Amino acid sequence: MAQPPPDVSEDECLPEYRHHFCPDLLRDKVAFITGGGSGIGFRIAEIFMRHGCHTVIASRSLPRVSKAARKLAAATGQRCLPLSLDVRALPAITAAVDQALREFGKIDILVNCAAGNFLCPASALSFNAFKTVMDIDTLGTFNASRVLYEKFFRDHGGVIVNITATLGIRGQVLQVHAGSAKAAVDAMTRHLAVEWGPQNIRVNSLAPGPISGTEGFRRLVGSQASVSTKTLAIPLQRLGNKTEVAHGALFLASPLASYVTGAVLVVDGGAWLTFPNDLKLLADFASFSAKL
Ligand code: NAP
Repeated sequence: MAQPPPDVSEDECLPEYRHHFCPDLLRDKVAFITGGGSGIGFRIAEIFMRHGCHTVIASRSLPRVSKAARKLAAATGQRCLPLSLDVRALPAITAAVDQALREFGKIDILVNCAAGNFLCPASALSFNAFKTVMDIDTLGTFNASRVLYEKFFRDHGGVIVNITATLGIRGQVLQVHAGSAKAAVDAMTRHLAVEWGPQNIRVNSLAPGPISGTEGFRRLVGSQASVSTKTLAIPLQRLGNKTEVAHGALFLASPLASYVTGAVLVVDGGAWLTFPNDLKLLADFASFSAKL
């Protein structure tokens, strides 16, 4: 079996990556990455930068993105601008995009990676919790895409990569909020690909499966024993890592995908085809919350 590319579990840059990159692939491009200060978004920023790109990484916590930007710039020699924004707040997105355009003069790529998630059965999910996830994942993706379109992509073209999930395909238990929000984003990908294609804007989704070393994965998995059992149910027999997800995003953002738009690239080792949709987990969760 082919070896997976290297990764590290925390938000640190990769130790030995120099043999795997081509600095011309995204040379002098500029990518605006929401949620770029941690996890999968951090690794996407790093991989883009190692392929010649400058980045803007944006999320709510300025200390988080500032620390991440220092690490990314030091490891790659590219520029990384950290900005604070909430993807639910239009004025904050507009101000951040304006600042990025002042700093770099252009934005070529938007990666919508900001999201929130947790496990909860639909019957116990508050109306507000469902709305919050829809607001961050779905509306946040539209907000950032629409602002970028108006400020730059409409007149110059561009690429949008939406980070989604496979949760909604089979109705994963305890995930009605995130599954619904990400399915809506996959639909948005197709709508925007159709409407904005004539302006030379490509729009695609990337749907990761279970990815080790991420906050999302830590929050969503059960015990180590249950992780091992579930891993064996994945056709490739292992969890994915953030570098592998970032390589998928690199492909979609790069000229290698110049004729790809409106697509959902699933990066999950085949997991969605076979992963257990665990009704026992639902029952366990219900009895656990009943005791609270
Ligand atoms: P993560 O480290 O928790 O990343 C989420 C990021 O989004 C954080 O940097 C957070 O930063 C930012 N964010 C959250 N709410 C925001 C808001 N309202 N406005 C702006 N930024 C916000 O999680 P991850 O596991 O790497 O996930 C990254 C993406 O991959 C998500 O879209 C997730 O749904 C998707 N995904 C992950 C997995 C997995 O196994 N981990 C599987 C499938 C899909 P602040 O707190 O500073 O705002």
